Amino acid sequence: MTATVLPTADHLREEARRALERCGVDPALLQGPHFSRSPVNGADLLPVTWVDGDAVDEAVARAQDAFLVWRETPAPVRGALVSRLGELLVEYKQDIATLISLEVGKITSEALGEVQEMIDICAFAVGLSRQLYGKTMPSERPGHRLMETWHPLGVVGVISAFNFPAAVWSWNAAVALACGDTVVWKPSEAAPLTALACQAILLRAIEETGAPQHVSQVVLGGADVGERLVDHRHVALLSATGSTRMGRAVGPRVAARFGRCLLELGGNNAAIVAPSADLDLATRGIVFAAVGTAGQRCTTMRRVLVHEDVADDLEQRLVSAYERLPIGDPTAEGTLVGPLIDSRAFQNMTEALRRAGEEGGKLLVGGGRRLGEEGPDTYYVEPAIVRMPAQTEVVREETFAPLLYLVRYRDLNAAIALNNDVPQGLSSAIFTSDQAEAERFLSAVGSDCGIVNVNIGTSGAEIGGAFGGEKETGGGRESGSDAWQAYMRRATNTINYSGELPLAQGVDFSV
Ligand code: NAD
Repeated sequence: MTATVLPTADHLREEARRALERCGVDPALLQGPHFSRSPVNGADLLPVTWVDGDAVDEAVARAQDAFLVWRETPAPVRGALVSRLGELLVEYKQDIATLISLEVGKITSEALGEVQEMIDICAFAVGLSRQLYGKTMPSERPGHRLMETWHPLGVVGVISAFNFPAAVWSWNAAVALACGDTVVWKPSEAAPLTALACQAILLRAIEETGAPQHVSQVVLGGADVGERLVDHRHVALLSATGSTRMGRAVGPRVAARFGRCLLELGGNNAAIVAPSADLDLATRGIVFAAVGTAGQRCTTMRRVLVHEDVADDLEQRLVSAYERLPIGDPTAEGTLVGPLIDSRAFQNMTEALRRAGEEGGKLLVGGGRRLGEEGPDTYYVEPAIVRMPAQTEVVREETFAPLLYLVRYRDLNAAIALNNDVPQGLSSAIFTSDQAEAERFLSAVGSDCGIVNVNIGTSGAEIGGAFGGEKETGGGRESGSDAWQAYMRRATNTINYSGELPLAQGVDFSV
């Protein structure tokens, strides 16, 4: 493992300032009592101001006014705004990626990948703006037509997590804007600068395309700011990404006012490694999924359920790969593992390791802290693998860190049962060369997750599919496929051109 010298606070601050300036962020926004902190070296980056509840109400009121105009704008014209946003994201890709790396510690390649995902969803949403299809159905009555039409919903409140500080907004905003909705975004407390940069770029696209100014706004702040969106009667859809704890708090509140909720919450994702698996491919797939973003993806692989015939071999391969992982400054070339977001994340990992030991686990590799001496408030950890005797309590929890549990199995049905025997239901995978096994995993008696993969890890989804998970992951679907339907309301229309009034189901009501 390599240890790199961390960049100085001044250097990071200057990098952030330059990126923000290029993206067109108003310098007046860069003042206030709250600082964006960089996990790269633990230093404060730049100041920002958090808003209060009244400011949230004002933003929602502006968004509601903008909605009244935007919903009447033809969808392909709305698509032109999203198209311009996508072009500008191409232009400022490096700047947004820099801010993502500085604020949440993502390695450069993954930060660039996150912005690419934003560009991709814009392209998808532009196409969508000409494809908001409704169905027509045969009517049971002569001279009648049945059809569905889709209409804009209203203001969409977006609450996002730290680990995808920009992409989650774009999955929601690009689709919502194409659908005719307006957006108020409450980004993670950890990544306000990335949010300000995204918003500045969108404002430029708004200006250039003549869209209403307030079709998308950002409100910085903590959970209380999010709560104001949660409770606001004019927020027609609340799309919230974060921990299951957060979802448990917001879901019932939105439901209580009959609002719509789209929840994207925690995962506890497993891969089954069958005896017929290509172990080289499985090892590479597992390492990326378990270690990428320092284990801080909702789709991070946290469990490997490995057949006992190949368990020793796979263990050796994984340990050997983990021993070679370059850990350090995420902005340095060659680094694959950046820092954890903060001290709490480190404590959670340490505590989970302790409990895993108590529950019979054997640490195979990693678990130590790196580079602590370079910056006392930085949390670089060695990704860890723990062999567990069974799927114990700690294994069934999401620990948001690079901590992978290995559990052995003998029978595929038992492995599938283990895959499903966790409260979360986001992503899952099987590595196998046996088609019958793969099909079983994909079938109704297979994985119960929202994402079910074969011969590929649990993370790194493409935007073209609907993204989300079941059970405590919240049930929401975002991004591609027909996820757009969550952002619109459906009307069923019956059109009678018969000149008569026959009633459905043959009801006779003649007077
Ligand atoms: P978090 O739950 O601490 O915070 C997420 C967001 O919710 C933040 O913006 C926060 O301010 C806000 N928030 C917290 N409590 C709130 C409340 N009561 N009312 C309104 N808003 C509130 O999560 P985090 O630490 O930023 O992110 C990590 C978690 O997010 C992990 O559990 C991860 O699995 C999950 N996640 C899920 C997905 C997905 O698509 N399923 C994607 C990314 C992250």
